[in-house]
Amino acid sequence: MSKFAEPMARLIDELKKLPGIGGKTAQRLAFHILRASDEDADLLANSIREVKASLHLCSVCNNITDVDPCVYCSSATRNQRLVCVVEEPTNIAAIEKTRSFNGVYHVLHGALSPLHGVGPEHLRLTSLSQRVDRGEIDELIIATNPTVEGEATATYISRMLKSFPVKLTRIATGIPAGSDIEYADEVTMAKAIEGRREL
Ligand SMILES: [Zn+2]
Repeated sequence: MSKFAEPMARLIDELKKLPGIGGKTAQRLAFHILRASDEDADLLANSIREVKASLHLCSVCNNITDVDPCVYCSSATRNQRLVCVVEEPTNIAAIEKTRSFNGVYHVLHGALSPLHGVGPEHLRLTSLSQRVDRGEIDELIIATNPTVEGEATATYISRMLKSFPVKLTRIATGIPAGSDIEYADEVTMAKAIEGRREL
């Protein structure tokens, strides 16, 4: 038998399903919610319901959006022929923050990971090759993470699209700005040398 009343145990179980939330944190959050005002608890419950009801994937780029096509795909001021391929919708925010990219996106919703059973069929790759096949894209910037999975995904995409007349580029990786090369690990240092550019 659970040491908590049934509804409390259920709430803790649901919170535990969230990423990064262990049993202890789930309990703390559940008690916080229990002590919160009815109004605050309602706001939380409603915002969860609303996010599920009103958000869906953009039919062009698979970004999470409340309008379709999303704000990027329907923008007249962005270069619709320059497409940045990212693993997750949250990666878009990181790129937008730089204010140095004026193209649009394609969200894969993951990266290839045979170890975790993620194959090409689990990613939004078909819609990507369809976009390329329709001749809508001049350049694809592959901005998957510089991890084993991200690199494997980048390689897979370049093979998948090699017969298409589209320019494929990969984001540079290397030493973070403001850091010291003395502390860079050998993979990072090797990538930094590989991705060097002329001054
Ligand atoms: Zn879109």
